[in-house]
Amino acid sequence: MQDPRESMYKERIREMETRISALERVIKLVQVINSKLELSPLLDTIVQVATQLTDTESASVMLIDKETGELRFEAVSSQISATIKPVAVPMEGSIAGAVAQEAKPLLIRDARSDPRWCQNVDQASGFVTRSIIAVPMTLHEEVIGVVEAVNKRYGEEMSWDDVETLSKLAAQAAIAINNARLVAELQQAYDELNELDQLKSDFISIAAHELRTPLSLILGYVNFLREDTSGRAREQIEVVLQSAMRLKSLIDDMVNLQEVDSGAAALELERLPVQELVQAGITEIKYIAAAKEQTISVSVPEQLIVVDADRGKLTLAMVNLLSNAVKFTGHGQRIGIRAEERNGTAQITVWDTGVGIPPEQIDRIFDRFYQVETSLVRRFEGMGLGLSIVREMVELHHGQVQVQSQPGKGSAFTLILPLAQPA
Ligand code: ADP
Repeated sequence: MQDPRESMYKERIREMETRISALERVIKLVQVINSKLELSPLLDTIVQVATQLTDTESASVMLIDKETGELRFEAVSSQISATIKPVAVPMEGSIAGAVAQEAKPLLIRDARSDPRWCQNVDQASGFVTRSIIAVPMTLHEEVIGVVEAVNKRYGEEMSWDDVETLSKLAAQAAIAINNARLVAELQQAYDELNELDQLKSDFISIAAHELRTPLSLILGYVNFLREDTSGRAREQIEVVLQSAMRLKSLIDDMVNLQEVDSGAAALELERLPVQELVQAGITEIKYIAAAKEQTISVSVPEQLIVVDADRGKLTLAMVNLLSNAVKFTGHGQRIGIRAEERNGTAQITVWDTGVGIPPEQIDRIFDRFYQVETSLVRRFEGMGLGLSIVREMVELHHGQVQVQSQPGKGSAFTLILPLAQPA
């Protein structure tokens, strides 16, 4: 005769084994759920997993619409999905509503005799509901929705074990839904930021371009006027000139900042004679040099030296070097620019007879925002971006920048660029 305790133990062990295997299934399926980052496929997966875990014919996920406070079907098993998805479920007098409001699961063995059962869904889908289990999805003690499973397969009865399994799933589903919502919010914020960034870039490009042309005219005319005037009028014109120069330096900084972000993405190469680059640089700075009565020596060979280059980016590098030459060189002194072909490379040197750079600082002047004099004691304008941009632009062209300088005597910056490949 078998010991009654032994058969009880055996029964217990069998129960536990069933529970463990149910839990294993939950864990496996929860892993599937957690691998989804987008809300809609996630909800569809939750529904599938819910029917598998509870061996039911159909399942659905309803979420509480934060604005209206109503429950809405967000995902439903495929056979009835399209017809009931738009249906809103009232909080009062419905099974899901009761579950959401009381934050407690329900097991209803005979749905048709329950006054809270809503026939609309069956009417709309042709589905026949017999039994329902419904569990709340809770996040930080707040109900965010309800998961329902309908009709046990093979005519079995719904059990409280099914409720427990579905509740476990709902707990994990709530976390996964929250994560998916956060990811979606983050993505939206990121997209908005990108759009704003693009707007900012476009705005700066257009503003800089539109400001440059009239400003060059102002600088040109003011320079001419200054030649023809004397005394008090000349002093006033000097003030206008200084202001216009400050504006130009601001616009240059704006363009530099813009270039910091855009980088290599937009490199537009063409075959470009360095003579044209030299000319473009001089055109940009000749009036500010004239305002300081500096002379610009230009030395370029007649034979064209051609490089494969982005005209805008290398012109920006030239303008930065030339503006520095003007800025760090005194009134009436000389600055210059020289181009030559040397050791199979194109070399453009911008030199000046200005303040020079202390040898221990030379390694740092190409760092972003580095300036030899700190801005508190500065005599010169600028943001400390010019040279870092020069180096970036030149490196984009597989070239390099060299600098030689002697304090009190002047500096020379040389851009070394590969020659254009023969066509
Ligand atoms: P910014 O000119 O706006 O200060 P840059 O990056 O162009 O920034 O230059 C960094 C620093 O390097 C300058 O502040 C200055 O101290 C030094 N520098 C650059 N060019 C020259 C030059 N031609 N002569 C003397 N010092 C220079």
